[in-house]
Amino acid sequence: MKQTIDELPLTKAVTDVLHQLGVKDINPAYSTGLAWGGQEGCTTKEIYSPADGNLIASVNMATAEDYEQVVKQAEEAFKVWRKMPAPKRGEIVRQIGNKLREHKEALGKLVSYEMGKILQEGLGEVQEMIDICDFAVGLSRQLHGYTMHSERPQHRMYEQYHPLGIVGVISAFNFPVAVWSWNAMLAAVCGDVVIWKPSEKTPLTAVACQHILREVLTENELPEGIFNLVIGDAEIGSLMANDTRIPLVSATGSTRMGKKVGEAVGARLGKSLLELGGNNAIIITEHADLEMALRAVVFGAVGTCGQRCTSTRRLIIHENVYEQVKERLLKIYPSLPIGHPLSNTTLVGPLIDKDAVKAFQNALEAVQQEGGNLLIGGEVLEGEQYAIGTYVTPAIVEAENHYHMVQEETFAPILYLIKYSGDVENAIELQNGVKQGLSSSIFSTNLLETEAFLSHWGSDCGIANVNIGTSGAEIGGAFGGEKDTGGGRESGSDAWRVYMRRQTNTINYGRELPLAQGIKFDIMD
Ligand code: NAD
Repeated sequence: MKQTIDELPLTKAVTDVLHQLGVKDINPAYSTGLAWGGQEGCTTKEIYSPADGNLIASVNMATAEDYEQVVKQAEEAFKVWRKMPAPKRGEIVRQIGNKLREHKEALGKLVSYEMGKILQEGLGEVQEMIDICDFAVGLSRQLHGYTMHSERPQHRMYEQYHPLGIVGVISAFNFPVAVWSWNAMLAAVCGDVVIWKPSEKTPLTAVACQHILREVLTENELPEGIFNLVIGDAEIGSLMANDTRIPLVSATGSTRMGKKVGEAVGARLGKSLLELGGNNAIIITEHADLEMALRAVVFGAVGTCGQRCTSTRRLIIHENVYEQVKERLLKIYPSLPIGHPLSNTTLVGPLIDKDAVKAFQNALEAVQQEGGNLLIGGEVLEGEQYAIGTYVTPAIVEAENHYHMVQEETFAPILYLIKYSGDVENAIELQNGVKQGLSSSIFSTNLLETEAFLSHWGSDCGIANVNIGTSGAEIGGAFGGEKDTGGGRESGSDAWRVYMRRQTNTINYGRELPLAQGIKFDIMD
């Protein structure tokens, strides 16, 4: 593999970024928007970059008492925030979007350095935050319900949407800031207040976001408690899941986590929005434009070092073009520049930590035991610039769809090549033949194939693309997946509805009191 030499004055660049974003050497355990807090003597967690192993900064971990403080503050803030007209809340979100524009470069760099995705993707993630702010501003003038005709004379019926209350957001390490903004900005214009528990692997970008928000909250003299941050691990997440004061918990992460959160929230009849693991496939038919398909496959499989929920994990290729696709991939993979994510020439950064490297190696070993044929990759890179041990070479394995490892989501750059024959229905069956249902795509220039893929007997995923890869969704559409992916939808379209409670209203503007369904109930007096 081609290895990039890191020539950036990185230490200086990162120090400047931390300074600009207000990240200190040790950061407090929680924030209620303006104030920061935390118990004395709590645990402190050091956060190291997966890029070079350097200590970036530390965070204090919130205790149950800290959490309690935050919830109380959020409850108070909700009473104020819900009374502000939605377009005025939209104005606050517009200003947050503008602040993010100002800090895009710095926040993008910190995302890249803390999480390990390449700078282009770090900047893209911040752009996604800006885009959702713009979307939410427009939405703040459109939180609409239907009107219906009543069966009773001089009656009017309509429905309206009201704020829910506190929205709990639990986020994953791989999109450390965008997922929060998808939830928080919509929830905010809907009149909700938000408590965010970021991934314990990437809390510093969350701290940075909170500092950015703080400027807007201060400038607008808003109270504490509208946008809250609690730094903690699964225990804090679990407190949120079990807390009846939080009507909606939006949780992004592994299916294992989603099942626990879903069960806890369900047991108290709360609402959950679950965005969980994927096992996404691209189908390449014999009618595909192969050059286009290959570009999408490589971005999908190795982008973010295979750590996107929408990463391409399975490639289902028609037997007539199978060898050609395989050969081309085997030429492209060795030329992929692997290196420091902040280096301009890098396309593949590190995995998040050594546990992820272990999971990558274990998966490759297990799939080979099942009969998989490792064609390329799978090494852990060595040498001075890779000394931290988080850099791997993306792997390609010939495999069968039913293999246990192929059925699982390994959060690493492993691409399984699966051959199909016959017509596109066989490929669709393979594509649907996993537990997860997030993203899917087909490369074909044949209308009969692409329409079959999109039909009611086609892809069973929440996202189905034609001649576009599985990853890189736009915020305008609703994002989420079926089956083990959890069924939640967030971001665009009408995903906002989950952040509100729905109310049907019937108004009588006559002088009679007719009952629905013509029921007679005359009171004698
Ligand atoms: P993870 O499940 O380990 O952790 C995610 C978050 O859940 C963290 O904040 C963690 O502290 C919290 N958590 C863990 N156990 C919990 C529990 N029992 N109760 C409450 N909270 C708990 O996931 P990860 O390793 O951070 O992220 C990778 C996973 O996330 C992958 O499976 C990926 O596909 C998925 N993901 C899905 C989407 C999507 O939109 N579908 C987006 C990003 C990531």
